[in-house]
Amino acid sequence: MKKELIFLGPPACGKGTQTTMLAQFLKFPHIDTGSLLRAEIKAGTDAGKEAKLYIDEGHLVPVELVAKIIKNRLSEDDCKNGYILDGYPRSLEQADALTKMNSDINRDEKADFRAIYFDIDTDILVERIVNRRSCPKCGEIYNLAFKAPKQDGICDKCGEKLTQRKDDTREIAQERFDTYFKETAPLIDYYKNMGVLRSIDANGSIEEVWERLLKVVND
Ligand code: AMP
Repeated sequence: MKKELIFLGPPACGKGTQTTMLAQFLKFPHIDTGSLLRAEIKAGTDAGKEAKLYIDEGHLVPVELVAKIIKNRLSEDDCKNGYILDGYPRSLEQADALTKMNSDINRDEKADFRAIYFDIDTDILVERIVNRRSCPKCGEIYNLAFKAPKQDGICDKCGEKLTQRKDDTREIAQERFDTYFKETAPLIDYYKNMGVLRSIDANGSIEEVWERLLKVVND
């Protein structure tokens, strides 16, 4: 049965790292709305220009803009057996939009839909954000505090110069947390009530969280 996996959790809770690993493990596409939007910005599209205004402030991009990008992506052939959706939905309105998209795409086919919530102590997350660096070429994510590259500022995997996201500053990170608690956190109850929520303790090392994640994906 097709596996539709979505992920909830505050900014920098480790979803990006874990869902990238999970996508490779399950051989499903990893669809990350933040990266899709940053790609639109880089390409200078109209959608990208509009999205940048919101991203730079730590706010959510308008619902229709993201829905269009996501629906196109979920309709592609490589999502037929399953997908990993990281960073969508982020509001109740987006959750309703996703339910509708899934039923339009699947028609009468049944799918195994799960929302996996990364439950984490949020006090440490702003520090995690300001220490985050990523590779613009291969997408590998580093953290100067606990997963530093071997050579300062250089990607271990492909040798590219690492960059820091423009919205990974202390001030914008705070805005993103406010947006998360207001808009996205209500989805935890929404999916709990639907009976599709699985929670994992997202505190601890990458390896510890990975073990917990595999358990809820395979149960
Ligand atoms: P992320 O890379 O997941 O931290 O997302 C970076 C930024 O992209 C967010 O702060 C939002 O401005 C925007 N964004 C990502 N996903 C969504 C979404 N599902 N809905 C609206 N805005 C989004």
